[in-house]
Amino acid sequence: TDAGRQFWARANRHLLHYGCDFARFVPARAEGCWLYDAAGTPMLDFTSGQMSSILGHSHPEILARIREAAGTLDHLFSAMVSEPVVRLAEQLAAQVPALPKVLLLSTGGEANEAAIKLAKTVTRKWEVVAFTRGYHGVTAGSAAATFKVGRTGVGPLPQGYYAIPAPNAYRPRFPGLDWRRELDDAFEQVDRQCTGNLAAFIAEPILSSGGVIDLPLGYLAALKGHCEARGMLLILDESQTGLGRTGTMFAFERDGVVPDILTLSKTLGAGMALSAVMTSDEIAAAADRNDFFFYTTHVNDPLPAAVGSKVLEIVLRDDLADRAKIAGERLARGLLDLKQRYPAIGDVRGRGLMRGLEFTDSGSQDATAIANAVTAAALELGLAANIVRSGTSGGVMRIAPPLIVKDEEIDQGIALLGRAIGLVVE
Ligand code: PMP
Repeated sequence: TDAGRQFWARANRHLLHYGCDFARFVPARAEGCWLYDAAGTPMLDFTSGQMSSILGHSHPEILARIREAAGTLDHLFSAMVSEPVVRLAEQLAAQVPALPKVLLLSTGGEANEAAIKLAKTVTRKWEVVAFTRGYHGVTAGSAAATFKVGRTGVGPLPQGYYAIPAPNAYRPRFPGLDWRRELDDAFEQVDRQCTGNLAAFIAEPILSSGGVIDLPLGYLAALKGHCEARGMLLILDESQTGLGRTGTMFAFERDGVVPDILTLSKTLGAGMALSAVMTSDEIAAAADRNDFFFYTTHVNDPLPAAVGSKVLEIVLRDDLADRAKIAGERLARGLLDLKQRYPAIGDVRGRGLMRGLEFTDSGSQDATAIANAVTAAALELGLAANIVRSGTSGGVMRIAPPLIVKDEEIDQGIALLGRAIGLVVE
C-alpha cells in the first residue's frame, strides 16, 4: 500500500540499524497475546515482545497502574527514595529471603553491569567467567561476558573475562563425557589462564539467546561449588527466566541453589524498562565498606517500580508460574508432535513457556537456512517466534508466549508453526 511504502521510506531514512533486519509486520496496537497492524491483521506474539511481556499486551491492571503512578510520582533526584521503590524491594525480598538487598535500574545490561561491578567491588578482584554462549547485554562489562555477539566495533573490552562452554545435551562437544568432568576441566583451564583474581561467574540458568540450553539438574550446585572454592561470587541472570516463565518463580529454584547476586530485567517490568539486582546482607555490607558506586539517572525510579510491584502481585495472585508449567507442557506436546511429523526438527527442549526448536540439515537445506525460512514463513502466516543463536551454526527457534496464553492460542500457534514448517521442508 501507499501508506506502507511511505512508512518504510521514513523508517529507512531515519532509523539507525542496531543489529537486526526490521520485521516487515508493523504493529499498530497490541492486546493479550496478539499484535495488530493498522489494517487489523493479527499476529500471535510468541516472543513476548523482547521476552518481557509475560502478562501479554495492554493488561488492564498494568494500564491502570501506569496511569495512576504516572500521575502521582514519576521521576526523582537519584538520592531520593520513595514508597513504590521500598515496596517493590520488599516484595522481591519476600520471594528470595536470602537476597534482601535490592537495587532497581532500567535494563538487563545495566543490571548485569552493576552485578559484575558489585562482585568486583566486594571481592576486590576483577576477573570474570561466563558461558561461551551466554548473553548479558551490550554495555562494556556485560558485553565482555557475552562472547558470541556484539564484540565487533568496540575496540578493547575490559580485560580478564574467561569463557567456558555450557553443556549441550543435543550437540555435546565430547559425546559420552560427563558434564561434571567437562565443568571441572573448564575450571582447571580458567585457573591456568587467569591471574588469580577471579571475582565472579555470571550465568543464565537457561541460556536463552545461546539456543535455549537448559543446564542439567545439579549443574548450578556444581558451579556454586567451584565459585566457593575460589572465593568467587555466583551471579545468576534471570532476565528472561525470572517471574515464572520456566514453571517456578525463578529457574534456580529447581536446583535449590541461591546465587550470591541475582539480576532480573525484562519480565519484571513486563514491557516497561525496569531491572533489579538482588544480593545478601553480607555482600551489601561489604559493598558499603568498599564504596560501591552505581548512581544512575533512573536508579530507584518510582514509576517503573510501581509497575513492577503490580507485575509481581499479578504473577503471584494468578499463579502464573504454575500456569507456565501446565501451559508449557501443552506447548511441548504440540512441538513434539511436530517433531514426529517433520524430521527437519532435530530437538525440542526448554522448560515451562520457554521452549527451543532446533532444526537439522534436511535435503539440500542446512539447519540455519531452514530455521530462517520457517521463521519468515510463520511471520507471514501470523505467528511471531524468533531465531536464537543467530550468527552461529545451527538454527534454533525460541517459542515463548506470554504466561497468560490460553490453551487455544497455544494450539493456534502450533498449527501456524506446522504450516510454516510444511511450506519450507515439503
Ligand atoms: N540478560 C539476558 C539473559 C538477556 O536475554 C538480555 C537481553 N536479551 C540481557 C541480559 C540484556 O538486557 P538489555 O537488552 O535490557 O540490556
